[in-house]
This record gives sequence, structure tokens and C-alpha cells, in this order.
Amino acid sequence: ETTVQKMQTIGSSDFSKHPCFNEESKHRYGRIHLAVAPKCNVQCNFCNRKFDCTNESRPGVTTCVLKPEEALVHLAKIEELTDNLAVVGIAGPGDPFANPEETMATLERVHAQYPEKLLCVSSNGLNIFDYIPRLAKLNVSHVTITVNAVDPEIGASIYEWIVFQKKAYNGIEGAQLLLQRQTEAIRELKRYGIVVKVNTVVIPRVNEHHVPAIAKYVAALGADIQNCIALIPVKGTPFEELYEPSASDMRMVRAKTSIHIKQMKHCARCRADAAGLLGEDINNPDSRRENPQEI
Ligand code: SF4
Ligand code: SF4
Repeated sequence: ETTVQKMQTIGSSDFSKHPCFNEESKHRYGRIHLAVAPKCNVQCNFCNRKFDCTNESRPGVTTCVLKPEEALVHLAKIEELTDNLAVVGIAGPGDPFANPEETMATLERVHAQYPEKLLCVSSNGLNIFDYIPRLAKLNVSHVTITVNAVDPEIGASIYEWIVFQKKAYNGIEGAQLLLQRQTEAIRELKRYGIVVKVNTVVIPRVNEHHVPAIAKYVAALGADIQNCIALIPVKGTPFEELYEPSASDMRMVRAKTSIHIKQMKHCARCRADAAGLLGEDINNPDSRRENPQEI
């Protein structure tokens, strides 16, 4: 039984329609990200807040942030334009659980109004733990946690700071706390039977050689699938001088990580307000682009 087949049988969720999990369905079923979460509780060295969260995005256009009630109006509009919207997700532009009221209110409304839609959230994992029982109740079908390091020394060079319970942490201490919270979150999500996807931003010279260790670590926690995303160097960030790993670099990374955990290969790095089929965005028709990492 493959991981995807296993996911398809979990709960009432039908993963055969999930464009992020099933390559077959990515051309048939759409997804929408509702951009209701502007704030972030972490500062990643590759992220410029003027752009979307790299958890689920690519740089280029600033997202228009919506209030929960506006998000529902937006969703109704998109729903009219498409007949294949299977997944509704919250992925930023900051972190959904740095904006928990907005995130939970939006998910609750969407679930009440469109009980047949699959719901998903994408987070850095720092502050999701307490919301997991509510996410499970809302039938959130999968959660993405972005894990870029499982060694706090490497983490310290990726995260400038984190803020947890109103206190700021830097360096190794911050990276350690983030890792601890991510670890607890992944375990708890699995205890509730929620599918866990781990996103990892592959950063040349910083964590590129560490990605297999991340794969091994999250697999041991029960994570279902990993999505390795090539860094997009963004101007005005500490990593602006780095380069974007090539398709062959990414193939090498995945050859090593796939020993530990199933790999997702067709992530289109959608923006936090993406809508439509993977690889196209009905909000921004000009931004269509095939994933250069696709193999
Ligand atoms: Fe940016 Fe996401 Fe990192 Fe926050 S968690 S700094 S939004 S990439
Ligand atoms: Fe799916 Fe990746 Fe797009 Fe998120 S960014 S909706 S995981 S394909």
C-alpha cells in the first residue's frame, strides 16, 4: 500500500481529489489558498514579508490580505468561476497560527458552508499545537509543517528570530525551541490521524546536505510525505546572494530523502492566495509557470 493510497483511506477525506497529493488529479481538481494570516512568529532568512510565505509560495507579487468574512466572499466568487475546487487551504502570507483567530474563524466558516471541501493549513509549526484538536474536529485533511533543520546549529543560520508566548528567541535557543514545537506538533497531528506533509526549503550551503537528516527525523515522527522546495533567493533577505538549486540538484536531494519518506514532486510553489489548478493561478494569469523542479 503506498502512502497516497493510505491517505486516500484516512477518515472521510478523499485524497484522490487532492491536487497536492495526487499527480493524476492535479490537472482536474483545483485548490484555493485564502490569505487571511498576515503576521508571522518566525523570521526566516529567506523570507521577505513583502512576498508570500515561502512555505507555499514564490516571490513576485504581494498578497492581498483578507478578513475571514471577505475570504468567504472571495471563495464564493471563485466557486462560481470553477466547478472543480476540491481543496481550501490557509498558507499565509505569514503563519496561520501567528493569526489563530483569523485562521480558525475562516476554517470554521468554510467547513460550515462547504462541508465537502478538503481543508488544509500550512505552518512553521511553532504555535499550532493547541489548535490541533479543533483542526481534527473540522476535518482538516492535511497539515503542512515546514521543517528546514533538525540540528539547532543549522537552524540558527536559517531563523533570525522566533517569538513564542510574547518572548523573542534567537540563535541556537530559538532554533531549538522551534524544533521542539515542530516535533510535538507532528506527533500530535499523527495522534489525531491527520496527514502530515513536511515542507523543506533546500538552501545551498546552508541545509542542502542536511535535508536527508530532516527526512529521517520527520519520518520517525510519522510524517507522511516530504516536499523539498528549492530556495528562491529574494532581494533584501540575508540569503539573497545564494542561488536557486537546479533541477538536477533537487533530483540528488530527493534521491537521498526518498530512502526515508515519500517525496512530493509536483509542488507548484503556489502563492498564499493561489487559486485554480496547480501550475496556474486564476487570480494572476500572468504568474503561470511550470515548476522548474518537476521531474
Ligand atoms: Fe516567512 Fe513563512 Fe518563514 Fe514566516 S514562516 S518568515 S512567513 S517563510
Ligand atoms: Fe499544494 Fe504545493 Fe500548491 Fe501548496 S504550494 S497548494 S502544497 S502544490
